[in-house]
Amino acid sequence: MRFLELAETLDNIERTTKRLEMVDLISGLLRVAEDDIKETVFLLQGKVAPDYVGLELGIAEKIAIRALSSLSGLREEAIEFELIEKGDLGKIGEELLKKKKQASLFSESLTVRKVYESLLRISKAGGEGSQTRKLQILLDLLQNAEPVEVRYLLRIVTGKMRIGVADMTIVDAIAVAFGSKENSDLVEHSYNIMPDLPELAYRAMAGGIDSLSTIRITPGIPIRSMLAERLPSLNEILTRMEGRFAIEYKYDGLRTQVHKIGSKIELFSRRMENITSQFPDIVKEIRENVKVENAILDGEAVPFNLETNEMLPFQEISRRRGRKYDLSETIERIPVVLFLFDAMMLNGKSLMDMPYAQRRVKLTNTIKESTKIKIAKSRVVTDVESADKFFNEALEAGCEGIMAKSIEEKSIYKPGAREFLWIKYKREYQLEMEDTADLVVVGAFGGQGKRSGGYGALLMAVYSKEEDKFKTICKLGSGFTDEQLENLPRMLRTFAIKKKDPRVESSIEADFWFTPSLVLEVKGAEITLSPTHTCCQDVVKKGAGLAIRFPRFVGRWRTDKKVDEATDEQEILEMYHSQRKKILADNA
Ligand code: ATP
Repeated sequence: MRFLELAETLDNIERTTKRLEMVDLISGLLRVAEDDIKETVFLLQGKVAPDYVGLELGIAEKIAIRALSSLSGLREEAIEFELIEKGDLGKIGEELLKKKKQASLFSESLTVRKVYESLLRISKAGGEGSQTRKLQILLDLLQNAEPVEVRYLLRIVTGKMRIGVADMTIVDAIAVAFGSKENSDLVEHSYNIMPDLPELAYRAMAGGIDSLSTIRITPGIPIRSMLAERLPSLNEILTRMEGRFAIEYKYDGLRTQVHKIGSKIELFSRRMENITSQFPDIVKEIRENVKVENAILDGEAVPFNLETNEMLPFQEISRRRGRKYDLSETIERIPVVLFLFDAMMLNGKSLMDMPYAQRRVKLTNTIKESTKIKIAKSRVVTDVESADKFFNEALEAGCEGIMAKSIEEKSIYKPGAREFLWIKYKREYQLEMEDTADLVVVGAFGGQGKRSGGYGALLMAVYSKEEDKFKTICKLGSGFTDEQLENLPRMLRTFAIKKKDPRVESSIEADFWFTPSLVLEVKGAEITLSPTHTCCQDVVKKGAGLAIRFPRFVGRWRTDKKVDEATDEQEILEMYHSQRKKILADNA
């Protein structure tokens, strides 16, 4: 298939804000992709491999600018300047090479396969001279590209697929292309246990949509993590759980999925990135203490002071991430303990359809606890008093709260699901929201006084999974340190865009707009009705949305979350309702 066909589809997607139209456009493309179907889906996602493989495309903006400069004759500084002005190298390149293209007669048309293979070579290039090789491959592609192809090639290689097709849109498109909309649940289920959309598209095409039902969890391929709902009191949790539930410590660290494949151990984050190399200490402990042929386990890695036997603040663990050179020193300075709380597969047998209690027994029988591997503290409770006692123990131990888990027959492990089988309950603060929200930066406002030249506040949004939209919920200006404030423009520069992103719904005009990319953890006093914000617009009250009052940044950049994993609009609605219920109860 010609790459032009894909680029034109992306262009059409960019012109619409309607999800159904996007699904139709993509499914149309998948139907004609044939042998190139995997490559087509990778390019739609702006990737060359699933996240868990850890193959980053990463071509520096600098190199892309150099390529454009050499093809257009325009000086690099001039292109850089234009980039600051316009913020989109794709569009700049498209314009620059338009004239050039008309003049050249001898170019051969690009195919999806050729583009994919070239990008794969770019991502694998390493060592001496790799920058030059990457530049050469890119030049070769750009030379043969039509203007619209230039736009998407540049966005893909610099990791900025502007319109960023959401995974769930591709899930629906696969269903529609090879079955019907009714098959979306099946594709989503397969995606939850095999988060590799190109592979799913290929299997649906080659074996029919029903062939996806044969997909099983596989050691080495991370599954999507099961998530928890929240409730404002232990009392409500007990009622919801029908008078009996398992209560576990809620550890504050990094969600870690352990895969044992024979003697090979792999660790994945909740974003399904391969994080094995950052935790050689955990790998060693697993190898020594998990004596089964293969396994998939779920847990939380927590920074720990082994001398005082105390958990350390979550932030410490982030110092491990991305370290390459001084890792061994960091391992000694910031040891990590892995608390395991679930087993999804043991010895080639999936445990996901077993109820919680049975999985827990299997987990306990399989793991030999050591200083660095432990099983999450858990107990069955039937009354609020014992639950409250356990909750206080958890806080004293340094946890942020508890996880209530259903022990009913139906309490299976549901990958990717956020349901009431698991309910989180955290430390409460008076006059504060019960929980933090993970919000996406979509815009910013220029600062004044001490903040002049930087940003005074950021425009924050929740995500609507249902509509694939980002809806504003507050302006955020508090909670940042001076250093963080100073760094904000630099951090956000690469996401800057001229106009509001089409997926952002805002009735506020920001001074600066960004492609939704960064997720920040925010806490506020409460959730209130708002005449200006678009979150839950017209849902609670006609003409009003919901906003967070007195929001402040709690200091945590949620780089472990993708923007479509940010707090969902529905969660805010639930938080609003449970807050109302609590106020009514307190006043009763
Ligand atoms: P969410 O994962 O629900 O989107 P989040 O990442 O902000 O939200 P929390 O709301 O604080 O995290 O709670 C869920 C997380 O708690 C899990 O993803 C997991 O990393 C962590 N966790 C800690 N202890 C446990 C436990 N015993 N059982 C399940 N999860 C636990």
